[in-house]
This record gives sequence, C-alpha cells and structure tokens, in this order.
Amino acid sequence: MSFPTGFAMTIDGRAVAGDGSFVVLNPATLAPVGEAPLATAAHLDSAVAAARSALPGWRALSIEGRKPYLRAASDALRLRIEDFAALLTAEQGKPLAEAREEVGGAAFWLREVGKLTLPTAVHEDSDRRLVETRYRPIGVVGAIVPWNFPVLLTMFKLAPALLAGNCVVLKPSPFTPLTALAFGELMRDVLPAGVLNVISGDDTLGPALTGHPGIDKISFTGSTETGRAVMRGAAGSLKRITLELGGNDAAIVLPDVDLNKAVPNLFWAAMRNNGQLCIAAKRIFVHEDIFDRFLAAMTDYAQSVAIGDGAVDGVQIGPVQNERQLQRVRALLSETKDAGLSVTTTELDNCLPGYFLPISIVANPPDDSAVVRQEQFGPIIPLLKFSSDEEVVARANASEYGLAGSVWSADVEHARKIADALETGTVWINEAHYLHPLVPFAGRRQSGLGIENGLDGFKEFVVPHTIVTARG
Ligand code: NAD
Repeated sequence: MSFPTGFAMTIDGRAVAGDGSFVVLNPATLAPVGEAPLATAAHLDSAVAAARSALPGWRALSIEGRKPYLRAASDALRLRIEDFAALLTAEQGKPLAEAREEVGGAAFWLREVGKLTLPTAVHEDSDRRLVETRYRPIGVVGAIVPWNFPVLLTMFKLAPALLAGNCVVLKPSPFTPLTALAFGELMRDVLPAGVLNVISGDDTLGPALTGHPGIDKISFTGSTETGRAVMRGAAGSLKRITLELGGNDAAIVLPDVDLNKAVPNLFWAAMRNNGQLCIAAKRIFVHEDIFDRFLAAMTDYAQSVAIGDGAVDGVQIGPVQNERQLQRVRALLSETKDAGLSVTTTELDNCLPGYFLPISIVANPPDDSAVVRQEQFGPIIPLLKFSSDEEVVARANASEYGLAGSVWSADVEHARKIADALETGTVWINEAHYLHPLVPFAGRRQSGLGIENGLDGFKEFVVPHTIVTARG
C-alpha cells in the first residue's frame, strides 16, 4: 500500500499535524493501520477560517466553472482506486472487492453529481417586471460521516456541496478516519486551498463542529440518536441540516419466489458489509407457505459464507467494524436468546484476533422483540412469518424508521402494489441497495430529515435568491 502510517489533516491546502494522534486499528487483525491526528478546537477554528476565506473565490466561479474540479477530483481518485481500497479494507474491515466497489462508486459520484446544473428560474418576464430565482451556495458546510461506508458517504456530501459553491470541513468517524485524511491529501493538488478541509479527532469534534458559529450547514450521516444531538447542536445558530439516519428496512418475500435465487439475494440484502448498512434488510418477512423451506435454505447458505480478513482472497464477510459495535451486537444476541427465541448460529472457523462474529438467524421473533424493533447493524438476521398482504404491510410500516425496503415476487405487479403501500423513502423490487448519484435518497420518520443525491439532494446545498426587477 502506498500510504504512510502517519496521516495529516488538510487545512487551507496544507498538511497539518494534530495535538497528538490516535491509533486506528485493523478490525480483522487488531494491528495498527496508522495514526490519525487529534484535532483541537484551534484546528477546527483554522479549518473553518480557511473555508470561509476560500469561499468568495470558489463561490465566484459558476457551476460550470466548478465542474472541471469535480471531474479532476473523480479522475484523481479513480487513478488511486487500488491504494484507497486497500486502506479502506484495512481500517474498515470490508472485503477488498467491496472496498474497490466503494471507492469506484465514490469516483462515479463525483463525476455524475458534477454534471448537475441548476439554472436561474424565471417566474415572470413581462412588461411589468422580471422575477427570477438564482441558487446560491449556503456557505461553509460541515460534513460528518460514519464508519460503515466512509468513502462513498463522504461523496454524497462533498460532490453536491462543492458543485453548489460551498466550502467544506469534513470530519470522518474516529473509527475510519484514514481514507478521508488520504482523500484530503489527494485533493491538495486538485482543489483551491481551503475549499476542502479534512480534520480528525475524538468524540468531542463532532459536537464542536455542529455548534461552530462559522459553519452554515451540517450534512450528517449516522445514527438516529446522534442525529438528534446534531439537530440540538445546530439549533443555537439555526444552521441548515441534512440528516441521513438509521433504518430498519423490511424485505417482504412473497410465496411465488424462486428460492434458489431469493435466498442468496435476501442473505446479501441483509448481510452486505456484515449487516452494517443503513439500508440492509433488517426484518425479512417470509410468507408462511414457504417459511420453513426459506429458513432451512437461509441457514444452509449462511454456513457456506467465508468470514475472515477482508484483505484475503475469497473472504465474503469481514469483521464487525469496532469493539463498541461488537459489544452492541453481542448484547442484542444475548437478549434475543434470553427471551427464549430460536437462534441458529453458524460456525466461525477463523482464528483471527479481530472483532469477528458468526451469523445468527432468528426464527420468527415477535414484532415487539428487541431484535426486530432495533437496527441490528451486525450479523443477525430476523426472519418473520406473515400470511397476508394487508398484515405484512401494516407490520412493515409499524416502525419508527422509514428509510427503505424491498419486495420479492415473480409477480411484479403484485410486488408494486405492496411497494406503493410501504412508507419509506425507497422501495426496491427484486433487488436491494440500488442507489444512484442522480436519484433522490431520503428517509421518512426518524430515518432522517432532508434528501441526498439527485437534483433534490443538490438543492439542499443552495439557498434561493430571488431578484424582482420592475419594468416600465
Ligand atoms: P454515529 O451516529 O455514532 O456517528 C456518526 C458520526 O457522527 C461520526 O463521525 C461521529 O464521530 C459523529 N458524532 C458522534 N457524536 C456526535 C455529536 N454529538 N455531534 C456531531 N457528530 C457526532 O453513527 P455510526 O455508529 O458511525 O454509524 C452507524 C449509524 O449510521 C447507523 O445507525 C446507520 O443506520 C446510520 N447510517 C445511515 C445512513 C443513511 O444514509 N441513512 C448511511 C450509513 C449509516
């Protein structure tokens, strides 16, 4: 890997060390991957100041004038996919093939979002007056990102924020800061100084960024609980906020599916990235006519999956990303077993010291059990039995979350009727997890506030500026 083990922040286009550093561990081996700088309040102040002073020049470029920068950012990342993927696997744990996909996806996001445009809207052009709305950047955006898809989720924020003419202070998760720091370094030769600043730190940095008076907007992805804290923290200065939060997606499996295809598809809908995915299928509702066969086939399939160090060829599932998450998943599993629910757990046959867990399948837990109500965010799959469309739709919608969901059937029209009734931002039919830079993605209820991606997501990074000119 062509990265050093010491990483620097990027402030005003320069490498900046922290006030000390913290070690980032490889969750598969528990070996150190590198050291990330520990930012102080003074570092945050200088990152915000750098962003503010870069703002007039960056804002003065038109959207068309900023597009070449996004293309250059995309090209620069694409040229380094292998390096970034190796670093991502080392710090996050996901298999290398998925890390490559994530970094490639991030480069794709920069390029595709970089094609958007938001022309001036002319509402009236008459003898009496001209009424037009231009879309202006908001100012300095604080971007806060979680540890599950640190590279891709960063681009959901950076690409539209920069294209719109904002400057950014990016704060990665303390569990996976290295890819963001490396990206900041890469961008020093691509973007004007101060347009993108990347700072890393401990748990105090997110609240400090959220409350900082020099930040105009927070774009946050993370848990619903932290989302509430961000909303409170942003209230003081009435910052604009976009919150992409937790999910508890239902997957509804109708009795006419081909089990040979449906079982692996549903397994990966739930277990991609070891279940650490906001849009993972976290409640799989299976029709009673096929429930027993589906459960048996899913249990067999789970046993065939290779769990290990994501850097090793053939590994399909890596470790849980961090110890805190490992303990959460273990506690949820104990609670599930203590409640007397039926849990089948696969064998774990690697002897690595990392945060590994086998896969657990829970057979028909009640809707009010913790394993159904909470997002597991780890290798636990609850399979729930249902008997009618009305019943399953009501149960799927009975959640505090409303992020996404999926319906699986040979009868697409039937599936579409169910999809229509699901109260979530996105529903997939016979697939899972499709997201695109030009397609809006937004959670309902406690899954979030605001929109990412597409023109709607782009508009979250601008404010309308209406000019009314009287004539005659
Ligand atoms: P988290 O909420 O613990 O942390 C997310 C980020 O917020 C990290 O960078 C963290 O350092 C920072 N942070 C922590 N406390 C803060 C505070 N008080 N103020 C400001 N920032 C603070 O989430 P996580 O454990 O890293 O990620 C998992 C969660 O993210 C899950 O709930 C998952 O569903 C959700 N998620 C949602 C989406 C989506 O698009 N809806 C995508 C991925 C993950």
